[in-house]
Amino acid sequence: MTRREFLGDTAAGAVAGIAFVDCGLAGGSSAQAQTRRREVLVNGRRVKTIDVHAHCAVPEAMALMGRKVEQPGLLMSKTADRIRAMDEQGIDVEALSINPYWYTADRDVARDLIRIQNEKLAEVCAAQPDRFVAFASVALQHPDLAAEQLEEGVKKYGLRGAGVGGSVNGEDVSDPKFHPFWAKAEQLGVLVFMHPQAAGAAADLKSRLKGSGGLENAIGNPLETTIALSHLIFEGTLDRFPGLKICAAHGGGYLPSYAARSDAICVTFPDRCTVKLKKRPTEYLRQLYFDSLVFTPEALRHLVAETGSSQIVMGTDYPFPWTHTSVDHILATPGLSDAERISILGGTAAKLLNIKL
Ligand SMILES: [Zn+2]
Repeated sequence: MTRREFLGDTAAGAVAGIAFVDCGLAGGSSAQAQTRRREVLVNGRRVKTIDVHAHCAVPEAMALMGRKVEQPGLLMSKTADRIRAMDEQGIDVEALSINPYWYTADRDVARDLIRIQNEKLAEVCAAQPDRFVAFASVALQHPDLAAEQLEEGVKKYGLRGAGVGGSVNGEDVSDPKFHPFWAKAEQLGVLVFMHPQAAGAAADLKSRLKGSGGLENAIGNPLETTIALSHLIFEGTLDRFPGLKICAAHGGGYLPSYAARSDAICVTFPDRCTVKLKKRPTEYLRQLYFDSLVFTPEALRHLVAETGSSQIVMGTDYPFPWTHTSVDHILATPGLSDAERISILGGTAAKLLNIKL
């Protein structure tokens, strides 16, 4: 896309009267003009790139829980800055999600909060449909309500799936109480992006994860995802809902790094595997999706080896600056064909999120 087209889109958004675009035009037009949009090529072919792991926040919804936005980059009123970062990094589309902070809310608050959030997400996406799609937020602590919110999010607001935590107030997402939500996600055929809860696995280990190294985040977050995915496999949730599309953040945590142990446990100690599964545990990795946020080409090569290249989608964790080189990471990973690189950069996410290529 040329700069002229880019500015044209921004102007169209402003005509629609969307507040955050007005902010962008007032504060960022000169800077936008200076930013060169990186166009990603694979073997000379322009590729549309999609980031499935991009955070944002809706302050009006957070206020219902007495919370404030701590990271300004999460605000969608800063869309000019966000798009500048996307342009520099070669990200064409972000799939926005909001990390759950509302799992302790009662039903009434949760209903209002999610409605405000999903309406806002829809507004942001409608203003710049070529740059943003979004995952609906859902009140998973009330599974039947969450199922309704997902359906409304998809059908009424045009959202492309749901964002969920890896646990809900200490309960595992494989618990049968959550089945109504998984059933709805499967029925709608939409992607569920699973991101660890800061107070997930880390909550039980809090005293051991304090100290230098930010271990609560560094290893607590991937551990939360490792536990969540393992339960979904071993409790038979993925057998019950075989059409479910779940994308795990941070490359699925540690699960794909040590996958073979999950097969070995049932061979070594068969009496510990009390739920009869239809497949070997590691085979379920090939029906889950994972973002590419594993930092090195070797780590991504290994992830692909365990899960298949068709299961990997690009994730940056914007605005948290873990990486600015997600595109280069995928381009630099050894052993991938051009077609596989194109799929990981955006082709697979486009299919999952119903984005036109
Ligand atoms: Zn994240």
